[in-house]
Amino acid sequence: MAAEPAPQPAGASPTPETTAYRAALEVIRGVEPRVADAVGAELADQRESLKLIASENYASPAVLLTMGNWFSDKYAEGTAGRRFYAGCRNVDTVEALAAEHARELFGARHAYVQPHSGIDANLVAFWAVLARRVEAPALDRAGVRHVGDLGEADWERLRAAFGDQRMLGMSLDAGGHLTHGFRPNISGKMFRQRSYGTDPRTGLLDYDAVRAAARAFRPLILIAGYSAYPRLVDFARMREIAEEVGATLMVDMAHFAGLVAGGVLTGDFDPVPHANIVTTTTHKSLRGPRGGMVLCDDTLAEQVDRGCPMVLGGPLPHVMAAKAVALAEARQPQFRDYARRVVDNARALAEGLLRRGTRLVTGGTDNHLVLLDVSGHGLTGRQAEAALLDAGIVTNRNAVPQDPNGAWYTSGVRVGTPALTTRGFGTAEMDEVAGLIHTVLTSTTPGAAASGAPSRARYTLAEDTAGRVRSRAAELLGRHPLYPGIDLG
Ligand code: PLP
Repeated sequence: MAAEPAPQPAGASPTPETTAYRAALEVIRGVEPRVADAVGAELADQRESLKLIASENYASPAVLLTMGNWFSDKYAEGTAGRRFYAGCRNVDTVEALAAEHARELFGARHAYVQPHSGIDANLVAFWAVLARRVEAPALDRAGVRHVGDLGEADWERLRAAFGDQRMLGMSLDAGGHLTHGFRPNISGKMFRQRSYGTDPRTGLLDYDAVRAAARAFRPLILIAGYSAYPRLVDFARMREIAEEVGATLMVDMAHFAGLVAGGVLTGDFDPVPHANIVTTTTHKSLRGPRGGMVLCDDTLAEQVDRGCPMVLGGPLPHVMAAKAVALAEARQPQFRDYARRVVDNARALAEGLLRRGTRLVTGGTDNHLVLLDVSGHGLTGRQAEAALLDAGIVTNRNAVPQDPNGAWYTSGVRVGTPALTTRGFGTAEMDEVAGLIHTVLTSTTPGAAASGAPSRARYTLAEDTAGRVRSRAAELLGRHPLYPGIDLG
């Protein structure tokens, strides 16, 4: 956290953050000491681990403190001027501030800041597009009253009433997200889905193949965006394809919103000027509170604003207030520097891994994440993820394109740089991190099941190797303390 005050020498008066958190923990301890202990332990765990989860970050003390107050006690369904509850004038203020910062930061016509998460933001967007194109009478004709009561046959009827709507999105093994029309998510029940993948030779998005799929499938929604694709997406080309087939272009920028906010993704790679509707989380590279957001043009604004109560529970005013604070932070010049360093660090990490002989999907990265193919080390993603964790390196396993090990064991590990960049890591240190990862991967051997058959989960990593990696990681982390202004004593 580069912008934070340095740690205080013993005897110096505590920082405001230290005072605030010590007082908060004392109050919590008076009611349920085990929760106070868990909060303190979580800070210690986060301080001591090399966090490379591409979707995580560290929000500032200002963002975190904004969530712990009486805004949490308010009901505020609806939007300003159309609330279902009285007494919401202060909620109106923070909601308007968050929306104003979001519009200014991203250059959007309209911002809806109520979604509780990325999944919720996507659901708001899906219903908004359906509502505009298909309209509510179709729901009545399908006899739908309570969405939660629908069985598979009801969904069939509903889809028929909606005119059998379709969604085209990136396949899961190419880096797409479950909410882009896949079965375990409601989007896979609301829409008939088809996926576009990546070129098997390069791992890169093949726009001609996307165009061919769009022409053949004629989706209502063409969705772009990803959780595990390490390259840029040309949103101008995606819009061209959407227009050609009469689709709405929706971009889910949950992962890379911070790179858009920080001015790293511009022109054809900035989704906001090209998409009809953009969704995001606020807690990944954007470094805000856990939550979601929808940006759209004027044609969808009215339907988007009906998100609550259409598909969302009551808004979380304390989180909307924290979104306003985080977005204000992201409008500061330091955030542009942060976003640039996130990408520089990802490139240094990728180069360090390649140089040492680890295979990367697409052969590198242009954004904040790197996808390792660990099959060359004779490991599954699950074995690699567990061995790395033993050595104090926190990552997550992830499928690679056409993954022979499926989505559970996988052949890949996804790593990302937003969190370590927030701590202040630079490119030379990311190269060292690549060396630590390489040491673990080359020192781990796959294990066997009790029957003697090869196991996709078991592995062996010598404790002295894991220990050496952990102590080097601790030295690196010690150079960049997390929340240096907070001393819980
Ligand atoms: N969209 C994308 C592209 C994501 O990567 C994720 C989360 O990983 C989500 C949506 C869902 O976000 P949330 O966990 O806040 O619901």
